[in-house]
Amino acid sequence: MTAYDDSNIFAKILRGEIPSHRVYEDDHAIAFMDVMPQAAGHTLVVPKSPSRNLLDADPQALTQLIPVVQKVAVAAKEAFAADGITVIQFNEPAAGQTVYHLHFHVIPRIEGVALKPHSGTMEDPAVLAAHAEKLRRALAR
Ligand code: 5GP
Repeated sequence: MTAYDDSNIFAKILRGEIPSHRVYEDDHAIAFMDVMPQAAGHTLVVPKSPSRNLLDADPQALTQLIPVVQKVAVAAKEAFAADGITVIQFNEPAAGQTVYHLHFHVIPRIEGVALKPHSGTMEDPAVLAAHAEKLRRALAR
């Protein structure tokens, strides 16, 4: 398997080298808005520990990460008045992965509304900022 490369965009976000609309951080993970959301409120949950994807992740890191995925999913359902939440996680290019630092997509779903394409269109930063604020408020409750 290809080795982890810390020049990927999420490693840069974790190091604070490039901006993101961050909604959550603890000792093990951060969560921030996806810049090309597949639905309003599309959020990425990213562990601080380095791994390319699920296939090379430390199982201990996964035990710390999944509760954050759950926390963000519950808050996103409330913040975006969603009917459901889709959680997606891609491993390697053949499976659709484009950024090689493990992450879980948390996507609020409205009944009958299809997902937009993966890595499709850049969202207006003002919209992302407003969505991030909504989600932060729900996470704080
Ligand atoms: P993957 O295909 O690796 O599962 O998903 C990568 C995700 O990262 C895509 O949904 C894409 O829209 C998102 N993305 C790519 N570049 C950036 C970026 O610079 N900032 C943020 N916040 N999201 C990004």
